[in-house]
Amino acid sequence: MTLDALTFDNRFTNQLPADPIAVNSRRQVQKACYSRVLPTEVAAPELVAYSREVAAMLGLDEATCRSSEFADIFAGNKVLPGMDPFAMCYGGHQFGNWAGQLGDGRAINLGEARNAGNEHWTLQLKGAGPTPYSRTADGLAVLRSSVREFLCSEAMHHLGVPTTRALSLILSGEKVRRDMFYDGNPQLEPGAIVCRVAKSFTRFGNFQIFAARQDIETLRTLVDFTIRNDFPHLIDNNTHANDEPVANEIVFHWFREVCTKTAEMIVHWQRVGFVHGVMNTDNMSILGLTIDYGPYGWLEDYNPDWTPNTTDASGRRYRFGNQPTVAHWNLYQLANAIVQLTEEPGPLEDSLQLYADTFNKGYFSMMAAKLGLSGFVPETDEPLINDLLKTLQLTETDMTIFFRNLKNVPANASDADGETLLEPLKEAYYKPGELAGDTLKATIDWLKRYSQRLASNELSDQQRGTLMDSVNPKYVLRNYMAQLAIDKAEQGDHSMVNALLDLLRHPYDEQPEHEETFFAKRPEWARERAGCSMLSCSS
Ligand code: AMP
Ligand code: MG
Repeated sequence: MTLDALTFDNRFTNQLPADPIAVNSRRQVQKACYSRVLPTEVAAPELVAYSREVAAMLGLDEATCRSSEFADIFAGNKVLPGMDPFAMCYGGHQFGNWAGQLGDGRAINLGEARNAGNEHWTLQLKGAGPTPYSRTADGLAVLRSSVREFLCSEAMHHLGVPTTRALSLILSGEKVRRDMFYDGNPQLEPGAIVCRVAKSFTRFGNFQIFAARQDIETLRTLVDFTIRNDFPHLIDNNTHANDEPVANEIVFHWFREVCTKTAEMIVHWQRVGFVHGVMNTDNMSILGLTIDYGPYGWLEDYNPDWTPNTTDASGRRYRFGNQPTVAHWNLYQLANAIVQLTEEPGPLEDSLQLYADTFNKGYFSMMAAKLGLSGFVPETDEPLINDLLKTLQLTETDMTIFFRNLKNVPANASDADGETLLEPLKEAYYKPGELAGDTLKATIDWLKRYSQRLASNELSDQQRGTLMDSVNPKYVLRNYMAQLAIDKAEQGDHSMVNALLDLLRHPYDEQPEHEETFFAKRPEWARERAGCSMLSCSS
């Protein structure tokens, strides 16, 4: 299919109140869900990579994606008929504090493409120039953060984690000034634009902004719109005419679903070792999608206190182990907005409790699957799991390698000597010398318990291996891997971006040809290097 054949059905702009001011100037936007704004033209669009899966979803073939017209459109230089570009108005709590209006400061939605299967996919350019929501910033994005967003959104999708997608990564041909270390040394970096794709980019903050401004009318309109368009299964069309407000009962049901979807997303993050890094309420999707890939990171060493975000280094609010709690806190803020509409807190509070219950249940069954257990037996397995997580912290242990290789520990081998049990896991330790004394003993004791527990497992070792391989990825986007791809891309060599995209298409497959390079611990040089260990928000 060619680009001209893309059809658009722009529900967000057709059905929701628009900012009446057409000038693209930075300001507070009142009583509107969005502002129409055109992307800024750039000098020389050049395709770095595209996702063939996302292209296929939209009905676009390879030749189309490699055309100069594609690069023009998805760098923001050409707007197709049917597109209706706009930036969304939202607010948010940043690091626990209400920050007021934020909005799409460097994201411009092109429109909602309707594909052959009648699905609506919003196409959104990130880094396409300023909008009324840009505040003091430039509306642009640099190559390094765009490579990270492009690769990670696709990697997460292939891992089975709900996420926004990425269609394309395109160089603008222009330079962007960034002070990466916030040390007064700005550098010129290549500019880039990612086209993100999702069924909806609505965030918790889209609702919060109207509640904070006591604009209940617009809040009502947006809630109704969201339920009708993004949660249509909650509406009974026979009893709900389009012009009637959605009943409170349905609003409660909707919030319940937001809570369970969010819980499911966080369970996935904890499964694969993903740390978002900036879980502000403006970065929480109403659909429970992972959204806004900024200073995110992947656990290498299993350390629940780790946060990749330098801005978060002192409080560690967004550390790995705190993500379930922060999501709960964020849902509570969303409930505080919705209650302005329903004026009845009870059912919303129940849903917050449901979040906690859904998360806990999902977490333990996910962890049981990571251990290859056919079922989760709370009495024995909860302590087994908790003790494992403590043991992993005794010495630096690579989370991905440990869980991937755990399948090779045999069942019912309590009589085996400790060394035999430990053998399959040796690759996971960063400092093998520390695996001695109490640490060694605790590790072997745990492995013996695990092996004994497997004796009552209803799976053969082979079946257990298959189950474990389906939840314990072999390949994740380790921070240093993305950085190596960025280093090359900044030199004009895009090959590694594409190679990683290929590798991460099949994160659960063995791919023996990549084992030595990528099924490996983080190299020592990456321990302290910026972009590999810690990241700033500068992007
Ligand atoms: P983030 O922490 O990346 O989610 O961004 C928080 C807010 O800052 C959002 O409203 C973004 O749109 C905005 N923002 C971040 N970077 C830029 C930029 N370079 N230009 C304009 N707005 C930005
Ligand atoms: Mg954001």
